[in-house]
Amino acid sequence: MGGSNSRYPSRRILLCFLISSQFWGFSVPNSLFQHNIEGFKDPGDGREDGFHEVHCSRERSRVAWKIIQEYLMPYVEKEQYQLPSNCRVYRDYDIYREQEEHKLHSDINEWRCGFCKKAFYEEKYLDMHFDSRHHDMLNASHGKCLADLCGALHCDLVVDTSRLKSKCNPAAAARNRHLCESLANTCFPVNNGPSANRLHEFFLRQFSDAHTCSGGSRPLSKKPKKRSMLYIIISSITLILLLLYYTFVYLCQRGLKSGSQELRRIRRNGLRKKPS
Ligand SMILES: [Zn+2]
Repeated sequence: MGGSNSRYPSRRILLCFLISSQFWGFSVPNSLFQHNIEGFKDPGDGREDGFHEVHCSRERSRVAWKIIQEYLMPYVEKEQYQLPSNCRVYRDYDIYREQEEHKLHSDINEWRCGFCKKAFYEEKYLDMHFDSRHHDMLNASHGKCLADLCGALHCDLVVDTSRLKSKCNPAAAARNRHLCESLANTCFPVNNGPSANRLHEFFLRQFSDAHTCSGGSRPLSKKPKKRSMLYIIISSITLILLLLYYTFVYLCQRGLKSGSQELRRIRRNGLRKKPS
């Protein structure tokens, strides 16, 4: 027995120091205090007890998901195309999706767990908390890892743009190209209608063509243009001004027409009265 905390004597000393520092008003970095308090309250929050090893990088899965959302899904949605269930860019193939969607980032230094509302100062501590306390929310049933698509999806370029100039490896380029083609075939089969055909072509252009050492096109070159709020405001004002202008022109023309008709009528009446 002896309690789980007795296994962490150095942490206990550190915690005593941290608590007394708060009491006497010493300045200790908040992140250090928070991390140790969280860890002490519940040893299962650290990697020692509750950590479950998953052979899939959370960070790279996150980057792959971001690329899919930014550089592929806007076009899939535009085509109103339904991804087939065996397509590996599909939401269900991301082991971490459920957990990632339960991250509440309300402030620069506040990351909150959407399951139990615990707060953390940095995202990495929330990731560790998920690994240890909400392991049951991982979707590992299919044994697929989104990070495995990173080579095909150019994750390294998104993380570090200097990689674009790094030396090309022909074997890696061929492997990634093959993975891209396989993704295009499963996600957008060419015999699945015109939308699938267009998306198949697009996917190869966007991701596959750059996997060559002989100067292929720039990867991820197509990014949908987001219409900013300013653009919408300027367009609305222009439309209103145009409407006002044409209404004014129409009223002026109508006024001139009725004015000239009135003048003609007066002149005609004047001519009729003269002989008497
Ligand atoms: Zn939690």
